[in-house]
Amino acid sequence: MKMRPKFWEKYPLHELFDDEWEALCDGCGVCCLVKFLDDEQVQFTEYTDVACQLLDCQTGQCSNYPNRQSVVPDCIRLTADMLPQMLWLPRHCAYKRLYLGQKLPSWHRLLHGTTQHQAQFAKYSVAGRCVSELEFDEAAIEERVVRWVKI
Ligand code: SF4
Ligand code: SF4
Repeated sequence: MKMRPKFWEKYPLHELFDDEWEALCDGCGVCCLVKFLDDEQVQFTEYTDVACQLLDCQTGQCSNYPNRQSVVPDCIRLTADMLPQMLWLPRHCAYKRLYLGQKLPSWHRLLHGTTQHQAQFAKYSVAGRCVSELEFDEAAIEERVVRWVKI
């Protein structure tokens, strides 16, 4: 694994190695929830608790991450160049925070040992509080807007 010490403080997002970029993601799963975006794609974004078909709703992890785009073609492969259009990401997302010039969330696993990270992370992960899109039609999904995602 190719990661430089405190890379998140020292290098701009577009200069990160692949391993560094991946390590920023906490795997909260929020970006895998169905959401309704407004024209500005931020201010009136509404998240639902309905998750992409590949999300394991118990763990909050993608069940087929290496092959995800062959199953879910519109799964976003996030890059630094895309971030200006992705301010709908949750406020705790490390990519969004670093793009906005903010620090990593205080509980991020790059800053702490696993135990402390897990205790705080549970508040932000979708694990155990989402349902699969396979169980709902479009009209039913519109009824499942939630307020626990903060953008
Ligand atoms: S919202 Fe950000 S931290 Fe959470 S899974 Fe998506 S990219 Fe990773
Ligand atoms: S394919 Fe995987 S990573 Fe992509 S949105 Fe679905 S669950 Fe998330």
